[in-house]
Amino acid sequence: MYCSLLLSPLSSRSGREWFLLLALAALLFSPFFLARASEGETTASGGVAIKVDQVGYPVNGPKVALVDATAETFVLKRSSDGAVVFHGKLAPAELDSDTGDKVQAADFSSFRQPGKYYLEVPGVGRSWNFEVGTNVYQRAYYLAMRGFYGQRCGTVVDLGPEFPGYSHPACHLHGEFHASSGARGERDNVGGWHDAGDYGRYVVNSGVSTGTLLWAWEMYGQKLKGISLHIPETGNGTPDILNEARWNLAWMLKMQDDDGGAWHKQTSEHFSGFVAPQDDTLPSEVIGTGTAPYKSTCATADLAAVGAIAARVYKPFDAKFAEQALDAARKAWAWTEKNPDVTFKNPAGVSTGEYGDSSCKDERLWAAAELWRATGEASYNEFFLQNYEEYLPSLDAPPLEDWNALAPMALRTYVLAKRKGADVKATQAIRERTLASAHAIVERTRTNPYRVSMQTKDYIWGSNGVAAEYGMDLLIANELHPEKSFVDASRDNLHYLLGRNTFSLSWVTQLGEHSFQHPHHRPSGSGKQSGPWPGLLSGGPNAGRQDAVLAALPKDLPPAKVYADQLASYASNEIAINWQASLVFLLAGQLR
Ligand SMILES: [Zn+2]
Repeated sequence: MYCSLLLSPLSSRSGREWFLLLALAALLFSPFFLARASEGETTASGGVAIKVDQVGYPVNGPKVALVDATAETFVLKRSSDGAVVFHGKLAPAELDSDTGDKVQAADFSSFRQPGKYYLEVPGVGRSWNFEVGTNVYQRAYYLAMRGFYGQRCGTVVDLGPEFPGYSHPACHLHGEFHASSGARGERDNVGGWHDAGDYGRYVVNSGVSTGTLLWAWEMYGQKLKGISLHIPETGNGTPDILNEARWNLAWMLKMQDDDGGAWHKQTSEHFSGFVAPQDDTLPSEVIGTGTAPYKSTCATADLAAVGAIAARVYKPFDAKFAEQALDAARKAWAWTEKNPDVTFKNPAGVSTGEYGDSSCKDERLWAAAELWRATGEASYNEFFLQNYEEYLPSLDAPPLEDWNALAPMALRTYVLAKRKGADVKATQAIRERTLASAHAIVERTRTNPYRVSMQTKDYIWGSNGVAAEYGMDLLIANELHPEKSFVDASRDNLHYLLGRNTFSLSWVTQLGEHSFQHPHHRPSGSGKQSGPWPGLLSGGPNAGRQDAVLAALPKDLPPAKVYADQLASYASNEIAINWQASLVFLLAGQLR
């Protein structure tokens, strides 16, 4: 859960949590962390002032770096020998109110020679190295997908010779029903992904995350099918992105009760300390709502939606599994018809992530749309058509938190289905609003000094996920009506995540020369490896300042600056499978 550990009121904190808080505070001010903080200034002079996508730029696309300094010219140099390959003039400075930075654009779009380069600005210094190439994001995609593999629960994980020592034995092999579940006894439910920086597994966040990965497959399968992720299933005849998604899907199916409902989550009662997964000995509990029917509508509807997508995508590879997923989805849907509004709150004594939601109607709309797309059956179409109109505005201004607002996925899947029998009026309304919204996003990305789609209000908890979502919105619009500007603006958001930002920081661990180091992520914080687990996206700047690290930052910091690369900053530096999935989608859309 990406709001972990410190959110509970002070009075309810256990002795163990206090101990952990003090330990985190001590870590925060340790020489190790302070030394890390100044690393950016010493590794490459100008590295922080000159902001580049540290992965790179497609050879035929726009190529823009941003310079936060006063200068007039720049040169592009070849990394191997320092030869100057391009001269350019910096654009006039623009004030970016979200960061307070005055940035000048260094445009080298006309340079089209593949290779490794860096930018040099006289009087300022040099940038990090980056690549210009035909398929520059392939490794980024690989690492981001491997990030999911690293989150696997209930099995040995080993990243192999590429990242020696990044491994752990099987974890969380035993589970039991919590008193709130309406059942008793053992329930192991081995599998799934650890949700975020903690070791919980949550059906709701699993829903949007797994659904997004399966959508990436449906949209970009041709590009993804041949990419090996070097996971245990590699070579089994199923593309690896589907192998990885199935790991979590199989766990989600285990969370379904015989009556069709899905329990909300399987976690310990409170968060563990910063230990390796195998050292978390807190009982893993299937947690319910505390009163009949014990399962929640949001979790069950999410399971129905993802099961329906799975029925479509796994059919060519494993028809039996596809059938099983569809059966589960139908049963889950039927359960939500009987129980349309069972919301979830943490039962007494449980303080792990809640993923609570006041309305599960958008989740049901998503389930109906995916089931209709999978089966073409009239009853699902009818439910969709009776309910979609009130959600149309969600396409104009997509909601910021993807895990609890599924209406955009519901509406989009309805048109992406391209199914006979689709309602003409609904299809047209969804298309028009999706494209109008995409044009608005393109326009504001073009005029934003940092060339990102973000607005001032977007620097919330998980803001990097918001940036990735805008990128997704644009790619989906491009699917409905191809426009180069959609794809370019989508990539601008990727540039932002990979280093073209005020911190000149790649927000994906172990990707780029200057990537963030201290995710709020228990395996990375356990001290068992030399650096953070690779391929993981940080939550990003958060003007909400819900943790002590952010609260201690200067009061007048502009919103996009409210970030700390510190383990204790769970509100700006946690990783989470939902924004990780959006990153994968964004990268998949940029592959060749
Ligand atoms: Zn585990």
